[in-house]
Amino acid sequence: MKALVYRGQQGLVVEEVADPEPAAEEVLVKVRYCGICGSDVSLFAKGVFFLGTTPGHEVSGEVVSLGSDVSGWQPGDRVVVEPSKTCGQCEYCLAGRPELCLQPEGFGMGIRRGAFAQFLTCHHSTLLRVPPGLDLAHAALAEPLSVAVHAVDVSGIEAGQAAVVTGAGPIGLMMADVLAGEGEHLADALLLEDADHHLAAVNRDPSAASLADLVRSEAGLGVHAVFECTGVPEAANPALGLLRPGGIMLVVGHSEKPYTMSSLMVMARELRIEGVFGGGGRFPAALDLLAAGKVRSQEIITRIAPLAETEACLRELNDARNHGKVLIDPWAT
Ligand SMILES: [Zn+2]
Ligand SMILES: [Zn+2]
Repeated sequence: MKALVYRGQQGLVVEEVADPEPAAEEVLVKVRYCGICGSDVSLFAKGVFFLGTTPGHEVSGEVVSLGSDVSGWQPGDRVVVEPSKTCGQCEYCLAGRPELCLQPEGFGMGIRRGAFAQFLTCHHSTLLRVPPGLDLAHAALAEPLSVAVHAVDVSGIEAGQAAVVTGAGPIGLMMADVLAGEGEHLADALLLEDADHHLAAVNRDPSAASLADLVRSEAGLGVHAVFECTGVPEAANPALGLLRPGGIMLVVGHSEKPYTMSSLMVMARELRIEGVFGGGGRFPAALDLLAAGKVRSQEIITRIAPLAETEACLRELNDARNHGKVLIDPWAT
């Protein structure tokens, strides 16, 4: 099969490699699409992919064959794959926080071959069925969308409360869609209908007064939750300033640079800051949202490219020449 292999100085090279064989508890999946994640972009930019590995973890595809101990799946079944198999036994798994599992086994992030390749082997317990009628390209958004669903869970936001999403990349747009999808619960004060506009305000000038003014005119004391999806350190403090007393900022985007925040603001208003990592087991909810057409998938997916163009796409995303979700189709030429 064809796979993209990281070769250090030479970058990401399309190579012919042996077709993988599923182990006893594994399934062989024909990859149809694999999204480029923000983490792929930053790992590539820093040159810290493992040598000889194949990245890619936002995958949709079709079952090809089953390991000897697997049942319940048929060749041709349309699936998405959770990129991390949790141990189910550590203190975090037992506490219902699988995203913090102490012994996760994953593909596409470490040594194990990921899905920028024509086939993928994965543990059967990580497969989820794609609902009928949901396009496999759109289904490939399930992994990042599960992060957005998880973030909304963590925020604890309730009916009638207002929220702001900063960052109109794929996660930010999906976050807005998840919140809008809960519209019946999250009533009128919601400011997310025009997430792009809010982002523009934060990104263009992190200290822009316009967003703060807008929040104040629409939501009085401020919003209950800010979903910080820019990962721009300078955006953090202005984002905190949008919160009403007792509000929460979810750190969804990330940066290696430290964020500078006003401790006085956090202290005096009893603000909370919480991180969000991974999908927290919310893949099924993400698939439901995609199948129900509640996510602007068409707008979020800006490009579908063949394997050979992956590196160019990573550079485009890193230079912010493309702000959307790029899917790799390993069968396209
Ligand atoms: Zn991802
Ligand atoms: Zn665990």
